[in-house]
Amino acid sequence: RRNSTRRRIFLPRLVASMEGPEETYIMVKPDGVQRGLVGEIISRFEKKGFLLKGLKLFQCPKDLAEEHYKDLKERPFFPKLIEYITSGPVVCMAWEGAGVVASARKLIGATNPLQAEPGTIRGDLAVQTGRNVVHGSDSPENGKREIALWFKEGEICEWVPAQAPWLRE
Ligand code: ADP
Repeated sequence: RRNSTRRRIFLPRLVASMEGPEETYIMVKPDGVQRGLVGEIISRFEKKGFLLKGLKLFQCPKDLAEEHYKDLKERPFFPKLIEYITSGPVVCMAWEGAGVVASARKLIGATNPLQAEPGTIRGDLAVQTGRNVVHGSDSPENGKREIALWFKEGEICEWVPAQAPWLRE
């Protein structure tokens, strides 16, 4: 009985480690760029130890914004959301690492910055849902989908940083 409990507890971690590294799409939204928060936001993911695989400053066209947020199409705030995301340049990023999707969501904090914990990006740097400075994919599947949507072939680098042996044993 003790054994089966133990197995149940450790199985999700085992499965996660077998699945290998995930990718997530992180984006500094136009308010983050206009407010000079690009370096600060990149820095949080860099310092955590995730691997940066793609990075660009980009003026998002309307059709791309609509495709990216297609699941929110029926929501009343959708037109304003598209206007916001296309209102100025964004910074697009692809980050890799085991568990990066969930961890990045934690680093980013709750959608409403007033409910986001202090220490998170939104908790520290924003005050309103409609100006919440950063996007992060909500699942590994969406991470892949969004990176493919925002980056062209050749814009993603496969590389091993010098610090790799000091991040993982
Ligand atoms: P998250 O970005 O935390 O994954 P959602 O996927 O629910 O959150 O929403 C996507 C984005 O749409 C939010 O980050 C925010 O910019 C915008 N948004 C969500 N809800 C609202 C709202 N009630 N009013 C205005 N904008 C909203």
